[in-house]
Amino acid sequence: MDFALSDEQLQLQAMVRDFAAREIAPHVRAWDESSHFPIDVIRQLGRLGLMGTIFPAEYGGPGLGYIEYVLAVEELSRVDGSVGIIVAAHTSLAANHIFVAGSEDQRRRYLPKLASGEQIGAWALTEPRSGSDAGAARRTAALTSVMRAVSAVGGPAGMVIVAAVAGLLLGATRDPGSRSWCRQ
Ligand SMILES: Cc1cc2nc3c(=O)[nH]c(=O)nc-3n(C[C@H](O)[C@H](O)[C@H](O)COP(=O)(O)OP(=O)(O)OC[C@H]3O[C@@H](n4cnc5c(N)ncnc54)[C@H](O)[C@@H]3O)c2cc1C
Repeated sequence: MDFALSDEQLQLQAMVRDFAAREIAPHVRAWDESSHFPIDVIRQLGRLGLMGTIFPAEYGGPGLGYIEYVLAVEELSRVDGSVGIIVAAHTSLAANHIFVAGSEDQRRRYLPKLASGEQIGAWALTEPRSGSDAGAARRTAALTSVMRAVSAVGGPAGMVIVAAVAGLLLGATRDPGSRSWCRQ
C-alpha cells in the first residue's frame, strides 16, 4: 500500500501552510489574549473551499477527501489550534451530520452556506450531566428553543465550540420514550 501523498495533496498542504503562516501566525498571540474570533480568516478559508473540504460540489464543497481535510486541519492547527478546531468542529460536528444524516432537502438548504463559510455551524451534544456518556443526554426537541438561547453563550456546559458565532446550531435531541436519537 502506498501511503505517500499525491502531488495534489502536497500542493494543498503547501497552500494551507503558506496561508496559515501569512494570515494566521502573525496574529495568534493577539487573538488569543483578546479572545478574538478570527471571522475574516474563516471567511477566507471558506473561499478556499476549506470550510467544506469533504462535501461534493453539488452541496457547495470542493469534493475532496478525508486526507485533504485532515491535511488542512493539521496545517491550520500547527499555527493556531483554535482555528484548527473551529474548522474541524464546523465541518465534522455540524455540517457532516447534515451531510450524513440529513434529508436531501436539509443538505441542499444548509450545506452550501456552511461549505462556503458564509455560515458557521455548531453542534450541541454535551449537557451538564452528559459528556462522554452521550447516551445519557436528556434534551428533547421541546427543549430546543431553550438550548438555542443557552448555547448562544457556549452551551449548557460551556462546551459547544463556536456556538456564540454560529449561524446554524445543530442540536442532538432525544426522541421522548425512545433510546434512539432523532435528527433535527
Ligand atoms: C476542545 C473541546 C471542544 C468541544 N466541543 C464541543 C462541541 O462543539 N459540542 C459539544 O456538544 N461538546 C463539545 N465538547 C464537550 C465534549 O464533548 C465533552 O467535554 C466530552 O464529551 C467529555 O465530557 P465531560 O467534559 O462532561 O467529561 P465526563 O464525561 O464527565 O468525563 C470526566 C472524566 O471521567 C472519565 N469517564 C467518563 N465516563 C467514564 C466511564 N464510563 N468509565 C471510565 N471513565 C469515564 C472521562 O474519561 C474523563 O476523564 C468539547 C470539549 C472540548 C474539550
